[in-house]
Amino acid sequence: MTEAHPPHPLHPDTLAVREAVARSQYGENSEALYLTSGYVQPSAAAAAARFAGEEEGFTYGRYGNPTVASFEKRLAAMEGTEACISTASGMSAILMMCMGLLKAGDHVVCSQSMFGSTIKLIGSDLAKFGVESSFVPQTDVAAWAAAVRPNTKLLFAETPTNPLTEVCDIRALADIAHAAGALLAVDNCFATPALQRPVQWGADIIMHSGTKYLDGQGRVMAGALCASQQLITEKFLPVLKSAGMTLAPFNAWVVLKGLETLDIRMRAQSANALQLAQWLEKCGAVQRVFYPGLASHPQHALAMAQQSACGGAVLSFEVKAEGPDQARARAFHVLDCMQTLSLSTNLGDTKTLVAHPASTSHGRLTEAQRSAAGVTQGLVRVAVGLEHIDDITADLARGLDTF
Ligand SMILES: *Cc1c(COP(=O)(O)O)cnc(C)c1O
Repeated sequence: MTEAHPPHPLHPDTLAVREAVARSQYGENSEALYLTSGYVQPSAAAAAARFAGEEEGFTYGRYGNPTVASFEKRLAAMEGTEACISTASGMSAILMMCMGLLKAGDHVVCSQSMFGSTIKLIGSDLAKFGVESSFVPQTDVAAWAAAVRPNTKLLFAETPTNPLTEVCDIRALADIAHAAGALLAVDNCFATPALQRPVQWGADIIMHSGTKYLDGQGRVMAGALCASQQLITEKFLPVLKSAGMTLAPFNAWVVLKGLETLDIRMRAQSANALQLAQWLEKCGAVQRVFYPGLASHPQHALAMAQQSACGGAVLSFEVKAEGPDQARARAFHVLDCMQTLSLSTNLGDTKTLVAHPASTSHGRLTEAQRSAAGVTQGLVRVAVGLEHIDDITADLARGLDTF
């Protein structure tokens, strides 16, 4: 290393393809996939030290795996956190976070417009174990502050949200959490580290569903929490060891390879989404379009500052209709007229996925929870993929032009 070439931190694009390449003695260029449930120990003393956490080394598949560790290291590097721990799905990452941080009598503040299963898990399932929760309007910073109680341990936000793409101010929520001695967790599924790094704005924990854009091609389920080494080692790893929501090595390998193209996919799919949002805004059959990249979006300026000047790849729109029954029928018509795009509730795929949230992802919620989340019967969500924009608009026009 000469003075003319001082070491420098690698750029995020480089980390996405170069960080934590696990290689065996054969020197593979592509990341190795280690399929094993157990590990042979060099000595009884080494086994004891490894199980006690005093020495590096793998012991058992539920606790760790080299391919899984590569995925965790690479995602942590991309999010800018010290460490990461992965799970079998996004929901099990949320369960791990709550089990690690909360006990009976503790309180969590969440946005009303979080992912449907998140509302169900925290509001109903964890309530059975004495965890208290409040759900506040996503963009109302004063409401977040007012919901904090002496027993509040965690604030949990998702930005942009599913399906209305509401954007919240991560820095403002981090300040509220820290003033109360609580932590802020951010579900970064929609923006991904390619567009938004919540640690930069003060978040303590970044939660991912790797099932979405991190994989990016709709192949596997995965989840992760990115945070300080201390939180991972002291709070989350013990839950993984005892509860076993472990990410399978094969799934870790798929998502690890997905990270390599995350940035390029997010930018291309977001560019398509912006064009589609602009087309929908001009469409006579459409009442309203929700997309952070549009100047008409209520948090457009905040989104552009927080998300690398990019709206992301998910948008939703409401069809024009008289009353909820007609709205539902028209939304169904748009979905049923499609010939190219996929009718699917998933998101984060190179294939455009179109869904009716009120009857699917948000179908398990009560009517009150659904209307608090703003999910009306006329709402259609589009997770925009990599098809040509003209083919995407043509497929949606088939239904929108024929009410
Ligand atoms: C899909 C999703 C989850 C849950 O992830 P799974 O991998 O399906 O368990 C959580 N949050 C958001 C925003 C999601 O889109």
